[in-house]
Amino acid sequence: MATIFSRIVKGEIPSYRIAEDERYFAFLDINPLAEGHALVIPKKEIDYLFDVDDETLAGLILFSKRVAKAIEKTIPCKRIGVAVLGLEVPHAHIHLVPLINESDINFFKPKLKLTTERFKEIAEKISNEFI
Ligand code: AMP
Repeated sequence: MATIFSRIVKGEIPSYRIAEDERYFAFLDINPLAEGHALVIPKKEIDYLFDVDDETLAGLILFSKRVAKAIEKTIPCKRIGVAVLGLEVPHAHIHLVPLINESDINFFKPKLKLTTERFKEIAEKISNEFI
């Protein structure tokens, strides 16, 4: 069965899309640790990040870098933190989290509750900065 992220890529499930190309897709995490918390995935459905073939993985990192640069321009932060968990969704993904403090990337923290309008606004602003 297709993962929830593959269904997002196909447009079967809505998402706050930031950017995509033929191979990668970036969107906002719906349970964000901070405004601008994004996920970047390969469209190819592979569960574990370190099972992803070298070429796809290298491309995923480069695509994530472009997304991170766009987040930096949009969300006030010191830098973008990177995390890989994959305990919930079996489709390789990289979390990008704007950081001011180390605690901003603590996954035990209560997640932010944002309105649909705010999610849309953030995704659009980041998307506009994506090059
Ligand atoms: P993990 O697999 O442990 O890295 O966690 C999966 C992440 O995906 C969590 O941070 C969820 O909030 C996020 N997530 C799950 N479903 C969606 C969705 N439909 N849209 C955006 N983010 C999602």
